[in-house]
Amino acid sequence: KAVMEKIVWQRSLQMRSQQQAWQESAEGSRMLEFRRSLPAYKKKEEILSVISRNQVVIISGETGCGKTTQIPQFILESEIESVRGAACNIICTQPRRISAMSVSERVAFERGEKLGESVGYKVRLEGMKGRDTHLLFCTTGILLRRLLADRKLKGVTHVIVDEIHERGMNEDFLLIILKELLLHRPELKLILMSATLDAELFSSYFNGAPTMFIPGFTYHVRTHFLENILEMTGYRLTPYNQIDDYGQEKMWKMNRQVPRKRKSQIASVVEDAIRAADFKDYSPHTQESLSCWNPDCIGFNLIEYILCNICENERPGAVLVFMTGWDDISCLKEKLLTHTVLGDPNRVLLLTCHGSMASSEQRLIFEEPEAGVRKIVLTTNIAETSITINDVVFVLDCGKAKETSYDALNNTPCLLPTWISKVSSQQRRGRAGRVQPGECYHLYPRCVYDAFSEYQLPEILRTPLQSLCLQIKSLRLESISEFLSRALQSPEILAVQNAIEYLKIIGALDEKENLTILGRYLTMLPMEPKLGKMLILGAIFNCLDPILTVVAGLSVRDPFLTPLDKKDLAEAAKSQFCGEYSDHLALVRAYDGWKDAEMDMGGYEYCWKNFLSLQSMKAIDALRREFICLLKDTGLVDSNAASCNAWSSDLNLIRAVIFYGLYPGIGSVVNNEKSFSLKTMEDGQVLLYSNSVNTRETKIPYPWLVFNEKIKVNSVFLRDSTAVSDSVVLLFGGSLLKGDADNHLKMLGGYLEFFMDPSVVEMYQSIRRELDAFIQG
Ligand code: ADP
Ligand code: MG
Repeated sequence: KAVMEKIVWQRSLQMRSQQQAWQESAEGSRMLEFRRSLPAYKKKEEILSVISRNQVVIISGETGCGKTTQIPQFILESEIESVRGAACNIICTQPRRISAMSVSERVAFERGEKLGESVGYKVRLEGMKGRDTHLLFCTTGILLRRLLADRKLKGVTHVIVDEIHERGMNEDFLLIILKELLLHRPELKLILMSATLDAELFSSYFNGAPTMFIPGFTYHVRTHFLENILEMTGYRLTPYNQIDDYGQEKMWKMNRQVPRKRKSQIASVVEDAIRAADFKDYSPHTQESLSCWNPDCIGFNLIEYILCNICENERPGAVLVFMTGWDDISCLKEKLLTHTVLGDPNRVLLLTCHGSMASSEQRLIFEEPEAGVRKIVLTTNIAETSITINDVVFVLDCGKAKETSYDALNNTPCLLPTWISKVSSQQRRGRAGRVQPGECYHLYPRCVYDAFSEYQLPEILRTPLQSLCLQIKSLRLESISEFLSRALQSPEILAVQNAIEYLKIIGALDEKENLTILGRYLTMLPMEPKLGKMLILGAIFNCLDPILTVVAGLSVRDPFLTPLDKKDLAEAAKSQFCGEYSDHLALVRAYDGWKDAEMDMGGYEYCWKNFLSLQSMKAIDALRREFICLLKDTGLVDSNAASCNAWSSDLNLIRAVIFYGLYPGIGSVVNNEKSFSLKTMEDGQVLLYSNSVNTRETKIPYPWLVFNEKIKVNSVFLRDSTAVSDSVVLLFGGSLLKGDADNHLKMLGGYLEFFMDPSVVEMYQSIRRELDAFIQG
């Protein structure tokens, strides 16, 4: 022990002299000067002293004040100062992999080191961490995984949970575990960091832990709401009072007296705005008013107009455009690239910023463009608080973010662009005023902003809990509901019950809520259980190749493009992929075609000719590679296999595997004289999403349709469907638990009376038993 202590001491001394040498160098002292200018640095001593006196501390401060890059460094530095550097072990979690990577790189740079020395990072499938790493940035998911194997977090001295204001599911989950761990590890320090001021909730959760606030500084940001933007175009949005049956209400009307000449130039802009907001039906200051907006429409033309205006008339400075999600970003990018000004690389550096981008692209975001070139970054809400781009002067805010929501009563999950909160909107605006006075264009009227809720609902209250419940089971033996009752804000009991029920139906949990073999495999695949399940069976049945495409395809934007002016051509192009009564198989065909063309360097043309999104194809390609790595980790795919060459192309088998994953999302097909209709057990009559290949058919020669998603708008719509036969339903439906076959038949009994012929049932049961045995182990 004494020898160990001596080694640690010597190593700590070494760390101290290294750091001193760096800070005395010219570059190092310049860096130190920069760091000292950050608001967080002014509170350094106070922060350290509060941390030393308390087990839990909550620190909030405006974005960019130096929480993420400085506070972990303060701790490391103070440990190094007191010659304990080599004994400390700080973990700082980030909600997203890209921030873990970019922040660790930045911190290493500030310390004059390479990544992997004292500072490292770890994200899924990637990392840079050495023997001497004492400050590790990782995703929250990575820390949760570590807790699986090492419940006490042995050797860790500080845990910093960053961006807690986002209230992501993983963070809330982590806090439940850490709260308990703190009791067993009295010397472990927990620091929570937030960009907003809602620190009280966390403080009371941790028995009145102290809170600290770092005041920040931002320049004035001029704010334009939609009405101001429209005025720029010559249109005016004016409120007027209208008397109706319900009394007086304020309405909006568009004043369309615009000089003729300009009219055509801006017609599309205004049309776009009108489409985005149906002003006629618009009454401000109510929650309902938000739903009057078409959430699918973000007004690309309007964005293009503003961007063009900035490029031609405004002072230098980067532009940050907040979009709803990756799909809109790639769509907008494709559009902008065809624009004469915005698509000109000599004038505009057009970049994207989202969770799954490549690291080379990441670095570009932080760099300054050449003189005369304007940097425009299209981003998801990732740049709202976790990533700071220094030279931003203009911000465009579409007001929405893609958010999962969940209707526990109907057990229907939705992933739709939804309105952001007031706090988010302010954060987005704040990004424009970091280096000089800025401008922010909100693409919605002021009164819509007024109707935003103050904070966003935490994720744990608005998403299905299936993945979370699986994780809880893999970590603990206790009951899921009991565990969740100790959360910061506990989810509804019904939501928890639905999740458990679902996990039982898909065979991940047994009747006593214990993980099955399938469940255990699913916990190793960080994705929705249904997708994991599809991959697992794809691997078992040797049809992984198409299944990889299907699962990847379910995670990216619909690659089939339908430009409004070329709708017929696009439809015609798509028909070559149809014919199997399956959106999933259509995608597989399109991807395979692209891949072949890509081999001959013709990928771009192939997409262009067939109205496919090149970005989506590339994204599918990248995801497929990621999935293979994950499957190799689980041992289901041979880890030495370079690719998955051995695969079946038996369409019925692929259909069955798709069904197996998506079950119990299933509807029955009723073929009528001239058309067909669809029913599900819970909803009765349902409709297909208009982009489904199955909407082209008048008849479906299969009795069942399995679907990926059910979304309630006015009616219930099914998204991404594949037609399947009775035998597939019989073989793969129901939970794959022993002895459950009877139950399964009963459940489907109403539909499947035809199959209740004893000999068929018997045959089915025997096949089924074999399959069960296979899956179970
Ligand atoms: P916070 O976590 O409080 O939002 P950060 O610690 O991320 O703030 O950033 C503090 C400051 O460090 C930023 O305002 C910015 O000036 C600078 N900074 C952060 N990351 C980078 C980077 N990758 N490149 C250049 N400067 C950066
Ligand atoms: Mg931060």
